Amino acid sequence: MRAIRTRSQDRILNLLKNIKQGISAQDLYIELRNHSQSMGLATVYRSLEALKLEGKVQVRTLANGEALYSLTQQDKHHLTCLQCGLSIPIHQCPVHQLENELKSSHKFKVFYHTLEFFGLCSQCQEISQGIGDR
Ligand SMILES: [Zn+2]
Ligand SMILES: [Zn+2]
Repeated sequence: MRAIRTRSQDRILNLLKNIKQGISAQDLYIELRNHSQSMGLATVYRSLEALKLEGKVQVRTLANGEALYSLTQQDKHHLTCLQCGLSIPIHQCPVHQLENELKSSHKFKVFYHTLEFFGLCSQCQEISQGIGDR
């Protein structure tokens, strides 16, 4: 089944292409208005929902419950430092093979997967060690 993309969905996709980070529906609504492409907040939500089911858009829910939308990423993962927020891209995916296997074994259409590593970067480890020595 192929969904027909509405103009609202196209506008949202175009905007997301220009935004590198994930963005909340609320901020997206404001951005659209700034680009004189105003649409109701309900339409923004509805369009995002449709794009999500098409696999065009992915959602990442933050610890505070806020949902950030972005274009479905390439198979890319990060090491994120909890202290300074540094995000280091890693260029390998340990589950890429697994994804392909699951696709066929479960006849499941996988749009994307997420995998993130959290901890302290080398610089922040030095700082916290310095405090420990005192
Ligand atoms: Zn750090
Ligand atoms: Zn991956």
